[in-house]
Amino acid sequence: MPDSLRAAIRDVVDFPTPGIVFKDITPILADGKLFSKSISLLCETAGGARIDKVVGIDARGFIFASAVADRLGVGLVPVRKKGKLPWKTRQCAYALEYGEAIMELHEDAVKPGESILLVDDLLATGGTAAAAVKLLDELGANLIGISFLIELSILGGRSKIAPHPISSIIIY
Ligand code: AMP
Repeated sequence: MPDSLRAAIRDVVDFPTPGIVFKDITPILADGKLFSKSISLLCETAGGARIDKVVGIDARGFIFASAVADRLGVGLVPVRKKGKLPWKTRQCAYALEYGEAIMELHEDAVKPGESILLVDDLLATGGTAAAAVKLLDELGANLIGISFLIELSILGGRSKIAPHPISSIIIY
């Protein structure tokens, strides 16, 4: 079944900027069986561990994280780009291809010791996930795992978020 997920992912060349091959996951979302399977496989990455909350990363990560949280019967916490969260936040700056961006997490979103599964659609250079991990570490989260639907392994993102356990369903 990961093969049928892989086959559904559409490569869009030079989007959003020249030189980037964008992995378009909307064909998976649009197919009920494939979307459901992607959520099952992401849930399995928890390895049966008790999860208190699922944390999703802005913005495609929310789609997968919210379905995983619902399937696991737990709550969802968003990590968002700067300026979107209304309450008191913690911030972490991270590098983009050009310049810098800031991720935010509500200060009270995770309690110390809570078991967290962090979910995003895609691991590229790892900067985004590393920022989310830093915020969760600062709040004292017990990070059970970090799960991606897609990993672009050539970009070496894993090394940025080690030593936390990382799972990817489809690896390029
Ligand atoms: P990075 O911080 O480099 O690991 O980038 C990860 C974030 O950027 C993820 O939230 C992805 O949604 C997005 N992203 C990066 N590269 C791609 C790509 N080639 N195709 C689709 N999304 C990407």
